Amino acid sequence: MDAPAACLFDLDGLLLDTEPLHSEAWMQAARHFGLALTPDQLLALRGRRRFDCAEQVRQWIAAAGLGVPSLEALLAVRQPIAEVLLPQALPMPGAPELLARCQGQAIPMALVTSSSRSAVALKALPHPWLAAIALRVHGDDPELVAGKPEPDPYRLAARRLGVDPRSCWAFEDSLAGACSAAAAGCRVHVLLPRDRPAQDSMALAWPPGSHLVQSLAEIHFDGRTPAGVRLSGQDCH
Ligand SMILES: [Mg+2]
Repeated sequence: MDAPAACLFDLDGLLLDTEPLHSEAWMQAARHFGLALTPDQLLALRGRRRFDCAEQVRQWIAAAGLGVPSLEALLAVRQPIAEVLLPQALPMPGAPELLARCQGQAIPMALVTSSSRSAVALKALPHPWLAAIALRVHGDDPELVAGKPEPDPYRLAARRLGVDPRSCWAFEDSLAGACSAAAAGCRVHVLLPRDRPAQDSMALAWPPGSHLVQSLAEIHFDGRTPAGVRLSGQDCH
């Protein structure tokens, strides 16, 4: 296996353990409008941009026959909750070490996140090790037309690095993100969510060829046969 021309990293749930905090914020916000979100609904929100998530939650509120808040009203309830919770996120195990290994081997890196620039600034503040990634594509990037699961964010990151996305390794933890990276042509590594049984997570519709790992420590750049499971024959939703 060739070494990557660049490594493209998701942020939430991949480098930072923010997903339980994002879920908690969406749960509290939805509850404010009378809706109890299910674990499957919370999983479906992962990897997507804030406005896309808010629109989805509004649809669920409408489907439950409840009074539907405006997008702005929903986000206004969620925002202060998220601002308290998100700076508490810890690094995902092995994440600082993985970036250090990339740096040590002079592999270019980019952050490809659905989070806005201001949200990334908030979350990254307690984590100076994230400064190793200088090039960032945010969910509100002015050059971005469509967010994950569309391929645009990964294509944009590869273009800015001056590399072919097909030579890049992408690191994701959500279906929306993995589908985005696969559609851009990247080799996709999926960090399986820790809050579900591994068998359940492996059964999700990850893109064909995805390399599933349970820890970032399983990632190697030296041509060693990687551990983990490689999937084929499945399609994105
Ligand atoms: Mg993620």
